[in-house]
Amino acid sequence: MRKTIVTLVMGLFFPLIVMHTESVAVDIQPRYDSSVPGTQQDLINFVIAGLEGTFTGSTVFRVPIMNWPLVSVEPVPGRLYMLTPEGTPLALTDWLYPTGINACPESAIIIFNSNINWHWGLGPPPDDRYDGWSVATHELLHAIGFAYPYKNYSDSVNVSTRTFHCGVLNLTLAGSDTNGLSHLDAGVYPNDLMNLSIGPGIRRSISDSDKRIFRCAFAGCYNLRQIPTLTQWSLIILVALIVFSTWVVLRRRKVIGVR
Ligand SMILES: [Zn+2]
Repeated sequence: MRKTIVTLVMGLFFPLIVMHTESVAVDIQPRYDSSVPGTQQDLINFVIAGLEGTFTGSTVFRVPIMNWPLVSVEPVPGRLYMLTPEGTPLALTDWLYPTGINACPESAIIIFNSNINWHWGLGPPPDDRYDGWSVATHELLHAIGFAYPYKNYSDSVNVSTRTFHCGVLNLTLAGSDTNGLSHLDAGVYPNDLMNLSIGPGIRRSISDSDKRIFRCAFAGCYNLRQIPTLTQWSLIILVALIVFSTWVVLRRRKVIGVR
């Protein structure tokens, strides 16, 4: 009987063990300028831990982060901006140069506008402040891959139709220039983290569309972490119940001996 139980337990947990051991964390290494206060660093570190928990891969990614007064959008090739609804820059990502194996991103610089009334807390932002959590996540996603200047990403973009294509994925992008092609269209996806702009008092998190772009463009660099989904958990529990009931029935019929 003890052997039967051990077999049952091993049969149930082996797939779970396999699913968890194959994932290696992506390593995002921030380097903060002296302009970035401790509370902002703590919050960005929290955002980075979340991203490292979302993606797997062997990529080490370095990212200098600083605060600087950004007055207007400067048309510098390859520079990506996130804006307030009025068009003021909230933050930018620049120097997006993939140099690693398989053109994996390795580093980028992120600058937050020091003139903005930021909220650098874990809780939801007040109505008059811009959410640092959302904007930092948005900029870090540009830095690690969600950006037209990266070849793996641009290979899936159709510039004339302003769409991102990959398998069944067909997402509408925000515009036809480099910045527009690096964001999702707010008309089609009104609440997506990767929209061009965000208003005060709003928090957004990484969406399924955002994750699917990474899965398509950067399969050789990052993969989504293989944590069983709700459906997979239900299946695992269902299989366990079937195995257990079969064992109970067989035991009652004395097919399996009791020692
Ligand atoms: Zn952006």
